[in-house]
Amino acid sequence: MRTHYCNEIDESYIDKKIKVCGWVNKVRDHGGVIFIDLRDIKGLLQLVVNPDNKNIFNIAESIRNEFIISIEGTPRKRPEGSENEKIISGKVEVVVSEINILSKAETPPFQFEDNVNEDIRLKYRVHDLKNSKMQENLITRNKVATLIRNFLAKEEFLEIETPILTKATPEGARDYLVPSRVNQGTFFALPQSPQLFKQMLMMSGYEKYYQIAKCFRDEDLRADRQPEFTQLDIEMSFITQEDIISLIEKLFYEIFIKTLDVKLSLPIARISYKESMERFGTDRPDLRIPFELCTISNLVEDCGFKVFSEPAKKINHKVSALCIPRKANLSRKDIDTYTDYAISRGSKGLAYIKCNDISDLEKGLQSPILKFIDKKIIEKILIRVGAENGDIIFFSAGPSNLANNILGGLREKIAIDKNLLSESWKFIWVTDFPMFERDAESKKLKCLHHPFTMPIIENNSDIQNRSEEVLSCSYDLVLNGTELGGGSIRVNDKDVQNEIFKALGLKDNEVDEKFGFFMNALKYGCPPHGGIAFGLDRIIMLITKSKSIRDVIAFPKTQTASCSLTNAPSIISKDQINELGIKINNKDKK
Ligand code: ASP
Repeated sequence: MRTHYCNEIDESYIDKKIKVCGWVNKVRDHGGVIFIDLRDIKGLLQLVVNPDNKNIFNIAESIRNEFIISIEGTPRKRPEGSENEKIISGKVEVVVSEINILSKAETPPFQFEDNVNEDIRLKYRVHDLKNSKMQENLITRNKVATLIRNFLAKEEFLEIETPILTKATPEGARDYLVPSRVNQGTFFALPQSPQLFKQMLMMSGYEKYYQIAKCFRDEDLRADRQPEFTQLDIEMSFITQEDIISLIEKLFYEIFIKTLDVKLSLPIARISYKESMERFGTDRPDLRIPFELCTISNLVEDCGFKVFSEPAKKINHKVSALCIPRKANLSRKDIDTYTDYAISRGSKGLAYIKCNDISDLEKGLQSPILKFIDKKIIEKILIRVGAENGDIIFFSAGPSNLANNILGGLREKIAIDKNLLSESWKFIWVTDFPMFERDAESKKLKCLHHPFTMPIIENNSDIQNRSEEVLSCSYDLVLNGTELGGGSIRVNDKDVQNEIFKALGLKDNEVDEKFGFFMNALKYGCPPHGGIAFGLDRIIMLITKSKSIRDVIAFPKTQTASCSLTNAPSIISKDQINELGIKINNKDKK
């Protein structure tokens, strides 16, 4: 129906007949002459309908925004002063000689320029998706997915699909369940990830696997989470951690140069989990922030100020400092705000030292804690944190997790509040995660990654005996404080795998019930292997600088895990319920 797309028509087409079609972005009646901005997937083009051809003019007069039309016409130069420099077709307009209405449209629910709330946007998603920003996002998404596919195909990876109707998989979230009609009383789980299937493909000899896979996790939602999301899932055999890291670095180099024209400097920096927690209080450090945490436990062990000296000496406790540079320009009110913030994260208060003049320890410092601590120790603290005049040092003392959480959170909050983030792409690998951690509530061991991660051990007995010290062959890739993805070298020995399940408190019959099929496969031989998975939605969100993950997904779920366009999930008929052999308890509840 067209000879060209809207944005292809520039001055070189003047006086040549063309055909274009698309949506009426805007129609303006300028007393006798009608202007139509036509929009298609590639851009905009201005059309002009003159009154001399009555037929065409009558049709044009009936046209409203969002009608779908096709036209034939002849481009001409726009009158001086009316050019639009922002679009390719901005120097021309097309004089219409034929016009067809392909589809009429009711008045759209909102204008793209309107600041409509997201509920409305999601309800009228079909209209919302016409917005150029949404179209750009989905086009970028496609570009990245195509780049990934081409890159991995060149590296001889095979794209292999794994089941959607499957058994619960072990990423630690709640499962989405699907009742089976044929085997009543039993349920499929939707995959939280293809983890076990990709490992079984390695056992079957498909040495390089990938998939752009849908995953499902029934978790509480945050801005960058969706119950249904897309992972780039990768697994390789006969490799080491280095092989995976260097493959992924090349892949991200390619994605960033080809989508943003940004040249990443390789290799990407690495940091161990332990160091990351010490310096940033988190395992997803944002390196755009120009200040870090600093452990000062050994300086204050004997300082006499119990708030510091007690945690400084206790195992799994620490005293940390965060020196905020003068340029943050923190006021008295800011200090109060950040104290409230620390309290909201579980602290009793927030100790600080204001450094007016560090050369004068008597009068140059301001702080309620100075009177409790010897000046010599204060001096050492100032040196350790690298304090300069005008800086403010915050302290946190207590269980390490809590201190990290408070100062790590404060570091990010102050950087955002005070606009101290550098404009750049800061990648970092975080490696050597502990294999296990103890759940604060249940006190049970759980895995930081998942139970199929290779522990770094000398003897299998270490898994049980030294479980909380054992590290794992694992790595996460973090960009600007967001975890893009993570993976590990996997266990390929069934005895080690069994020890891990035991450490997690799983009984033999539970292992059998949950992972029997996998353990069975493992005993017939398994090459050394490892892999990684990335949240594709998150990557696209960062690349397109979108505020929400929902802006890079065509039909996302709302914050309450539902779809406002289709009204899913919805009630099903009695017949369907009976057929499935299930009973709904609270029938009245919607
Ligand atoms: N299956 C893991 C996840 O979804 C990633 C991996 O270990 O490859 O987080």
